[in-house]
Amino acid sequence: MASGGQGGSERTAPRIVICGGGIIGAATAYYLAEKGLAEAVTVVERHEPACAASGKAGGFLALDWNDSSQVGPLARLSYRLHEQLAKQLGAERVGYRTVYTVQVVGVEKPPAGGSSRRLRGSEKLPDWVDGHVVEMSEMGSPADTAQVHPHKLTTALLESAVTRGSRLLQGCVEGLQLEEAAGGDDTGVEEGKSGRRVTGVVVDGVVVPADVAVIAMGPWSGVAREWLRAGAGSGSGSGSGSGSSGVTGKRASSVVAAESSGSRSLLPGLTITGQKYHSVVLRPHKPVTNHMLFTGFKYASGRVVEPEVYPRPDGTVYVCGEPQALPVPSNAAEVHVEEQLGDNIRMVAGSLASCLAQAPVETLQACYLPCAPDSLPVIGPVPHCGGAFLATGHTCWGILNAPATGLVLAEMITEGRASSCDVAAFSPSRFAGGRPGNAGA
Ligand SMILES: Cc1cc2nc3c(=O)[nH]c(=O)nc-3n(C[C@H](O)[C@H](O)[C@H](O)COP(=O)(O)OP(=O)(O)OC[C@H]3O[C@@H](n4cnc5c(N)ncnc54)[C@H](O)[C@@H]3O)c2cc1C
Repeated sequence: MASGGQGGSERTAPRIVICGGGIIGAATAYYLAEKGLAEAVTVVERHEPACAASGKAGGFLALDWNDSSQVGPLARLSYRLHEQLAKQLGAERVGYRTVYTVQVVGVEKPPAGGSSRRLRGSEKLPDWVDGHVVEMSEMGSPADTAQVHPHKLTTALLESAVTRGSRLLQGCVEGLQLEEAAGGDDTGVEEGKSGRRVTGVVVDGVVVPADVAVIAMGPWSGVAREWLRAGAGSGSGSGSGSGSSGVTGKRASSVVAAESSGSRSLLPGLTITGQKYHSVVLRPHKPVTNHMLFTGFKYASGRVVEPEVYPRPDGTVYVCGEPQALPVPSNAAEVHVEEQLGDNIRMVAGSLASCLAQAPVETLQACYLPCAPDSLPVIGPVPHCGGAFLATGHTCWGILNAPATGLVLAEMITEGRASSCDVAAFSPSRFAGGRPGNAGA
């Protein structure tokens, strides 16, 4: 997409609005800036950047753990991009380092006779893991596993784009302004067919003019199903097509109302749900090594839980767990934090490592990871709607896969296709006919 192409104006860069200031939106802004388009980009964030999962995730990265799924090539590319980003932005600034990764199985009570297998002292299991560990196995080494600090990385990516001229706008995206488009011009609509194109993004009731809109709102992205609607030709009562495009500051309530009534959704099968997790950040009094722990822990009651324990370069230890299948609240500020669940996570961490038992809690938080019905990411252009892109559904690998997602989106927007990685399997077009089957991730 070379130009805005509206009203005969000769713009050289499209006006790009990225909806959502999580790591996917931030990485997209960063790679657009790398392509020289920083000044064309506005990132709209409802609260503050990285306020949701992108600031509360673990930040574990693995080179090849997705190789058995369609996500493998994206993950491999992204792992390498994280290495580059650590050099470009500063490893310390983004909390990047390579790590050892270990699976440990622990028990609350040692087996009868008191002889749980003590694996301490093994070079693969550090001394600080001094609880009742009954099994361990190596899962990764510094050659193929690493970590970042998700909040630091997300804000560093955004800062880098803003420093080069991108705009960060605090506001709530409420809809898209679309107009009718004939296929074959610079619209992304197929030759010979009619469709729609983006002319603006509605933010707090006001239209921000745009030629490209990237929906990167994590588990809140499903609302775009209502925003992306076929036009009047398909029975829409849309009022957005007749001269309402490109109007800076226009009150848009009538546009939003028209968009969400009557007409057919272009992506009727698009449903993005969330899975809730709690996490705690502890600050132990003694140093812990760069060993990431994927745990299985069996309570005396027989209940088994699987928290993940990630020591960080700043001396803290991040631990997450307690998954819950709960509806996503209407916005990130309303995510409810339950102290009891934080206590549960902390208790398990303390049972595996005594230095974590009494470590002060720096943060107790909860967030939702975004999931599509087939558990695959959703990356790419919206069919029959020029300038509209989706980037969501990254499940538990959104921190890992953000750089590659941002890069391929920047390629799609500037060159019309993703050249660094084949992302056809993640196309939003799979939602055009209804809900896709569960392909697994
Ligand atoms: C506990 C936990 C641990 C995790 N650990 C890892 C890990 O170790 N490694 C890994 O690779 N991945 C991990 N993940 C997954 C990763 O965090 C997510 O996949 C990723 O953060 C999703 O990023 P996002 O930008 O799509 O969404 P989000 O981070 O949810 O960001 C979406 C943003 O959009 C904004 N927004 C929403 N609606 C609007 C609106 N209408 N207008 C304006 N702004 C809006 C929100 O406020 C939010 O800031 C973890 C997830 C969880 C929950």
